[in-house]
Amino acid sequence: GVLRGFSTATAIEEPIQPPVQVNHTQLLINGQFVDSASGRTFPTLDPRTGELIAHVAEGDVEDVNRAVVAARKAFDEGPWPKMTGYQRSCILYRFADLIEKHNDEIAALETWDNGKPYEQAAKAEIPTLARLMRYYAGWADKIHGLIVPADSPHHVQVLHEPIGVAGQIIPWNFPLLMFAWKVGPALACGNTIVLKTAEQTPLSALLVSKLFHEAGLPDGVLNVISGFGPTAGAALASHMDVDKLAFTGSTDTGKIVLELAARSNLKPVTLELGGKSPIIIMDDADIDQAVEVAHFALFFNQGQCCCAGSRTFVHERVYDEFVEKAKARALKRVVGDPFRKGVEQGPQIDEEQFSKILHYIKSGVDSGATLVTGGDRIGSKGYYIQPTVFSDVEDKMKIAKEEIFGPVQTILKFKDVNEVIQRANTTRYGLAAGVFTHNLNTANTFMRALRAGTVWINCYDVFDAAIPFGGYKMSGNGREKGIDSLKNYLQVKAVVTPLKNPAWL
Ligand code: NAD
Repeated sequence: GVLRGFSTATAIEEPIQPPVQVNHTQLLINGQFVDSASGRTFPTLDPRTGELIAHVAEGDVEDVNRAVVAARKAFDEGPWPKMTGYQRSCILYRFADLIEKHNDEIAALETWDNGKPYEQAAKAEIPTLARLMRYYAGWADKIHGLIVPADSPHHVQVLHEPIGVAGQIIPWNFPLLMFAWKVGPALACGNTIVLKTAEQTPLSALLVSKLFHEAGLPDGVLNVISGFGPTAGAALASHMDVDKLAFTGSTDTGKIVLELAARSNLKPVTLELGGKSPIIIMDDADIDQAVEVAHFALFFNQGQCCCAGSRTFVHERVYDEFVEKAKARALKRVVGDPFRKGVEQGPQIDEEQFSKILHYIKSGVDSGATLVTGGDRIGSKGYYIQPTVFSDVEDKMKIAKEEIFGPVQTILKFKDVNEVIQRANTTRYGLAAGVFTHNLNTANTFMRALRAGTVWINCYDVFDAAIPFGGYKMSGNGREKGIDSLKNYLQVKAVVTPLKNPAWL
């Protein structure tokens, strides 16, 4: 059905048949696709309809054990950590080439399982997966320690060694980008991996991991477990033989895995968690540009981004104009089958997220915010939601405080710079922030004052393999991408030996 106010492009037609087949549904352990020890499977569903795509092997404690044994053996006895960085880089480069070769097939699988627009997956995300692999391939042969001048006649070397077996738990919003952010640096440094995918999106990681083996990755170096959080995920986080844990997902689950890691073997944990990122629009900004970018910052990926610009603060002098234009832009947003050309927004990931978002919309209305446009589901099956805009939002409202993770823009009014800095920082999160102004001094003030891991000025969601990403406060710790993420996967060893007859010190 077509809904009020939305262009006919939002009509949800019969779903298009995805141009791809599901070939891999088993767990990937020690280079082999295998059934789960229990023989159990779970369904992965098409978010366009809620119907079955495939049954996938359900990994649990025993499967995680098997995968950790394989990763341990590959680390302790296998060639991977011992081969030269250059040899590792060659395999990563070959993997990137295979990603490019299979780009459309991978993108189609990602769209089918996740619901994101195919054009976005095919033109941006999968090419970025290849780009990230090449970035870390470039690092593999440039990781080395240093020689430290000591106060006494000693030869002191600091070695950078791989940590060992890395456990990695990833979410469903960007299944393959999250795969790349974690797997790229871990492998470049010579670690082996047990990766647990999100239960909503198990398929694409199995396909690309198969390609990784075709590229020459030794068996046991990358093991992929499909399964649920409290079972397979918890087994990985608490495993005594996992040397490091990297997690992306909700802040609540982040606390759980940190505790599991602490209670088991004190493995170091990097966390990339939620956010409630502010975007600040000053009265001297280019309003049309700010409307467009703020729209993208929130609605991109169906609003399912940890760094979504989910609190839009607009200066009172341009507030009414901004709200009108934000409404017009939301009404133009093309929602539909993600396999259709020109579609900007597909369905939400699943029933649970879908109803959670509709609850937040109701809460916004109940708390007195103005529903400017949207507010409902689209159609009667699948998880499509109208692009929704609230104005007159106040800081104390739930929709201004909690992560909605859906296509719901919340617009707040402010008067001056100091006030908005204070309000923008009044959150437990600190993942990202955006600022729109043409005044250099104002931009500099915000850049220093905002407590967030990324500050975008006159832009938003600009990512690059070399730009570190991560959170302040309860948005997490550690950084991914860039040179910073290598540190997460390296041990540091100091080696000291006396110098008998130093030629020089
Ligand atoms: P989640 O944190 O529960 O899931 C993320 C990953 O953690 C999944 O692989 C899941 O299986 C695993 N997991 C869950 N419970 C676990 C446990 N006890 N031990 C170990 N692993 C566990 O997130 P969700 O339920 O899919 O989504 C809930 C909310 O989280 C969303 O509404 C959104 O606010 C947020 N979220 C944030 C991100 C992000 O990129 N930061 C991504 C997805 C979801």
